Amino acid sequence: MTSLTEIARSTSVNPAAPIPFDNTYTRLPEAFYQRVKPATAPAPTLVRVNDALARQLRIDPQFLKSPEGVAILSGNVIASGSEPIAQAYAGHQFGDFVPQLGDGRAILLGEVVDVAGKRYDLQLKGSGRTRFSRGGDGRAAVGPVIREYIVSEAMAALGIPTTRSLAAVLTGESVMRERVLPGGVLTRIASSHLRVGTFQYFAARGDVENLRVLADYAIERHYPEARSAEDPYRAFYDAVVAALARLAARWMLIGFIHGVLNTDNTAIAGETIDYGPCAFMDVYHPDKVFSSIDQFGRYAFANQPAVIKWNLTRFAETLLPLMADGADKAIEAANASIRLFNDHFNQAYLTGLRQKLGLASEIEGDRELGSDLLALMAENQADFTLTFRAMCEAAADTKGNAGVRTLFANPPAFDEWATRWRERLSLEERPAEARRTAMRAANPMFIPRNHRIAAAIQEAEAGHFDKFHELVEVLAHPYDDQPEYAHYGKPPAPGEEVLQTFCGT
Ligand code: AMP
Ligand code: MG
Repeated sequence: MTSLTEIARSTSVNPAAPIPFDNTYTRLPEAFYQRVKPATAPAPTLVRVNDALARQLRIDPQFLKSPEGVAILSGNVIASGSEPIAQAYAGHQFGDFVPQLGDGRAILLGEVVDVAGKRYDLQLKGSGRTRFSRGGDGRAAVGPVIREYIVSEAMAALGIPTTRSLAAVLTGESVMRERVLPGGVLTRIASSHLRVGTFQYFAARGDVENLRVLADYAIERHYPEARSAEDPYRAFYDAVVAALARLAARWMLIGFIHGVLNTDNTAIAGETIDYGPCAFMDVYHPDKVFSSIDQFGRYAFANQPAVIKWNLTRFAETLLPLMADGADKAIEAANASIRLFNDHFNQAYLTGLRQKLGLASEIEGDRELGSDLLALMAENQADFTLTFRAMCEAAADTKGNAGVRTLFANPPAFDEWATRWRERLSLEERPAEARRTAMRAANPMFIPRNHRIAAAIQEAEAGHFDKFHELVEVLAHPYDDQPEYAHYGKPPAPGEEVLQTFCGT
């Protein structure tokens, strides 16, 4: 296998270009993508550039804000070194297999290598039609663009693996949805856009040769340690299982509902990708669903680990022809890997749960203690984020109970549980103040609440972005109190609740 750096170096990388593209995906066979130019935007204007992320990617944020930079971010100009493509992929959507999906409203401009030497995709989302657009217009309305910007950057600040947002622009063109809306383009940064669906695309065509090329590429890019394993494809698969199990655990610990966990939205790198009808819960309930298209609750909060596991089983099926000799052995190997999912998930979840509860030691029954709290929260319509945040104070001082119990419809329900919690805390050796500090780093004050996103979108649709900018800035420091922005930590007032969220289309 040739290293990706060698592949990129064998072509004409210009490190002095404003965006130092260093492409490898376009060196793969033609079957992997369509070369395509972004559509032009009649009157592009900048909404926001992510300065810190730009610097990390060795791009001058001032360049991105210049007319030349905005021309690139809107698709009007193809930057030097960019080789725009739409990637091919397939996927199970709500359980049904679609052999061809692909980038229908996204165009990969190329890859960049960050200051730490890590490779990222730089993709425009909403920049016109491609061969994979089917009936769609290839466009994005401003609402989904800023929604993805807000939530993906909030996830990054919360420490959850995710794609990022480098920039948002308006195109100056209207898009037709239920209403006429301003069009926008998001610049998305991802460790890669390889999905379970990318593997399914070749598997469905019986194209084992390209499947192997893809797997080798994914190993090089994301799990190079698998290369030297006895069965590299098995080791690769195990690594993806572990990464996605840990990711699902993080979602469950933060109250995040992805909303469209199709196999084409399940990234091999283990990042959260595709912020369509996603939502954070205010009031906790395991069955919460926000997506307007998820009629049967397939992607409800509590189903997420099982769904990721289902997607990983579909992924295993694509790799069977590459794994150890003989189908039986391969199926056995894949089954063993899937069993690993539960171990990885449970370990990551329990570790995170203990952090949320303020437990530094490990004692049998900790998981039940946490589950019982969640069950009480569901019964008592307690706000997920505020309950855990208020517990940081309660853990340091019994008087702090007052701040938590009022979040429960029936406050004595919390008192009863808190007696058990305090007994458990009395077995801890860690000093109370250190516990409080650790809990505050595990239980955020600020999450992207639906009603705040909805208000920012409403304003953006009218051409104003103050709420959007402020929300992004507050969410960049989710674990700090930021007293001047305390209102952003509040749940929706009656009448402000958002009951449904919609896809990015
Ligand atoms: P998603 O539900 O956002 O993961 O998208 C599923 C598929 O629909 C992908 O192949 C997208 O490229 C495609 N798609 C979504 N919106 C559009 C659009 N406005 N125009 C063209 N294709 C789209
Ligand atoms: Mg998608």
